Amino acid sequence: MNNKPLILVVEDDTSVRNLITVTLKTNDYKFLTAQNGNAAIIEASSHKPDITLLDLGLPDMDGVKIIKKIRTWSNMPIIVISARSEDSDKIEALDAGADDYITKPFSVEELLARLRATQRRLSVTQTGTASSVFQNGSLSIDYAAGCAYLDGVEIHLTPMEYKLLCLLAANVGKVLTHTFITGKIWGNCLENDVASLRVFMATLRKKLESGSETQYIQTHIGIGYRMLKVE
Ligand code: CA
Repeated sequence: MNNKPLILVVEDDTSVRNLITVTLKTNDYKFLTAQNGNAAIIEASSHKPDITLLDLGLPDMDGVKIIKKIRTWSNMPIIVISARSEDSDKIEALDAGADDYITKPFSVEELLARLRATQRRLSVTQTGTASSVFQNGSLSIDYAAGCAYLDGVEIHLTPMEYKLLCLLAANVGKVLTHTFITGKIWGNCLENDVASLRVFMATLRKKLESGSETQYIQTHIGIGYRMLKVE
C-alpha cells in the first residue's frame, strides 16, 4: 500500500533533515528533499508534493518568500518548522499562507501527529467542498439555516460567535493568526480588535466545550487560533 502522501522536506541543517527523513521513511511516507529555497521551489513545482515541511531559515532565501511563491500556483499544505524565538516569523509565515508550524526542537511524535492532522484535513477538504453542512466530531454547522449544533442540539451563538465559528470551520486544521481573523471579521486590525477577539473566542469556546471533553478550538498564545479536526 502506498497511498501515503509525498512530503517535500526543505531543511538546510543536515541533522534535522536526516531526523525528518528517517522518521518519514520508517513510517512509510514518500519524500523529496531540498536544502535551499531555489531547490525547494523547483521540487515543489516539478513533483507536486502533497505536503511541504519548510524550515524558515535557509541560506539563499527566506522561508516566507518560498511560501508566497508556492501560493501563486498551489494550495498544498505547508508546515513551517521554526525556532521558538521567532514568533513574529511564524505569524508572518502563517499570514503568507502557511497552514501550521512546528517549533524546534520538536519530537518525532509531534511531527507525525502534525502530518496525520494535515492528512485528515486534506481528506475533509477534498470530499466536503460542495456540502452545505459542516461536520466535525459532534459539532455541525448548517450554513443554509445559519445554525450550529452539538450532538444535534442547537448552540445559541451571537452573530459574531457564529461568524468566528464559520471562519474557523472553513479553515479547520489550520492556524489562523489574529491579524487574519480580525481582518476577515472586522476588516482591519487594531489592537482593540485583538482584545475583543479574545473575549468573543472565550465565550464561543465555552459554548462549544461546556459539558463535553472535546476540544474544538486551540489557542496559540501570541499567534492565533485553530479549529482542531476531531476524529
Ligand atoms: Ca535552517
